[in-house]
Amino acid sequence: MEDSVDVLMRIENMTVAYGPIVAVENLSFDVPQGGMVLVLGPNGAGKTTLVSALSGLISSRAGRVLLGRRDVTRIPAFRRVGQGVALVPEGRGTLPGLSVRENLYLGWRAAGARQTRTFGETVAEAVDLFPRLGERMNQDCQTLSGGEMQMLAIARALASRPQVLLLDEPSLGLAPQAVARVYEALGQLNARGMAMVVVEQKAVPLTIVPSLTVVLQRGRVVYARGGHRPNDGELAELYLGGGTPS
Ligand code: ATP
Repeated sequence: MEDSVDVLMRIENMTVAYGPIVAVENLSFDVPQGGMVLVLGPNGAGKTTLVSALSGLISSRAGRVLLGRRDVTRIPAFRRVGQGVALVPEGRGTLPGLSVRENLYLGWRAAGARQTRTFGETVAEAVDLFPRLGERMNQDCQTLSGGEMQMLAIARALASRPQVLLLDEPSLGLAPQAVARVYEALGQLNARGMAMVVVEQKAVPLTIVPSLTVVLQRGRVVYARGGHRPNDGELAELYLGGGTPS
């Protein structure tokens, strides 16, 4: 692959395995500066494994992850977030018993020395993107609806001032209206230059065309294309057949 200043994150020949189970095999793609990479795949395709490895939560067996020119492959999650890689995990990962504000504070602290905003500015940014959070600021996050919880999970990740945001099935378990609101916000963020990798099982209401769409099937890439994404029919064919759509 050519070296390019436009590449924010580069995934090179990544293989991730759980003992004998190879969950992601020899995967390579670039996340451009300010770009969005959409990764689609059925159950068990390796989507969670991929974003977990990109965030440093699990180790890869082979390959490299570069952030800019820096090799972050062996940097664990708690330090990788300080380098600008933030994960919005499947199931949101918000902490029950803590208020919305306290969850945001944890995200803000996670940036470490890279933090450039005051906590007050961070809260204001979160409320600007998701006004509903402003009304819930002092509530235990357990009392939030699913959509509000997902908004909080995204706002908490953003509070760590990421260079790239990784989102694991942000639409999972949400009503269509909440999915639309979440994707509208992701579109706004991307338009402001936030790079992201979004994994999803189903087609989602994206307001922008991703820079790259990758479809995974049993840990392998069966489709990778820029400026286009498969429609529902093509996706069904890819998920069932594991080949390139005709
Ligand atoms: P889903 O949409 O169901 O979350 P996914 O695309 O995110 O699926 P992964 O969860 O990454 O897929 O799983 C990929 C493969 O790795 C599957 O075969 C799964 O059974 C296996 N796997 C995932 N986690 C583990 C684990 N902790 N131990 C062993 N195998 C695992």
